Amino acid sequence: MQRNAVTSGGAFATIGVADPAAPGEQGSRVIAVRPILTYGAPVLREKAQPVTEPLDSLRSLVEDMFETMYSEPGIGLAAPQVGVSKRLVVLAEVADDEAGRNVGPRLVLVNPTIHWFSGDRVPYEEGCLSVPEITENVERPRAIRFGFTDLEGNRHEREAEGLLARVVQHEVDHLDGILFIDRLSLIKKQLLRKRLKRLAAGMAG
Ligand code: ZN
Repeated sequence: MQRNAVTSGGAFATIGVADPAAPGEQGSRVIAVRPILTYGAPVLREKAQPVTEPLDSLRSLVEDMFETMYSEPGIGLAAPQVGVSKRLVVLAEVADDEAGRNVGPRLVLVNPTIHWFSGDRVPYEEGCLSVPEITENVERPRAIRFGFTDLEGNRHEREAEGLLARVVQHEVDHLDGILFIDRLSLIKKQLLRKRLKRLAAGMAG
């Protein structure tokens, strides 16, 4: 999910286990910003495959995903957005240092699932790195209970509300081929139709 004026300074209420591997600790390997696929790319509409491979083999992809997310800047990124159709998500809490870099704790979600949604829904202005230059208020359940495996192979169960609940729902949607614009009212979708068509055709704006 894209970081915007609203998310700036709005830290997650609670965040799970941070990935212990910090940037720059990957030996001689260069961590790369990968191109983010945008609206119209078929992989964004696919149901991503569960991760079944050894988790160690995901480390370089995860590092690249964080680097790509921070470069935008974003607060969450799903593997299909960099063309990898796997159930893998990275997130970062918003906490800026003096240079304005986001140094908030990081979270890696392997095979995340959402088990429970609160009955009450709240609006929030969402943007997506794969749907550039469009932000819209999206209503979603305020709180969730979700599970995920971390890169060490430990399964976690968590409850979240506020921004964390929002980002997890947005990113898990990506794993099912769903974009935030799909969750808008029919009228809003109609209003966006031309812009989305231009996006899909590879034209800006
Ligand atoms: Zn997104």
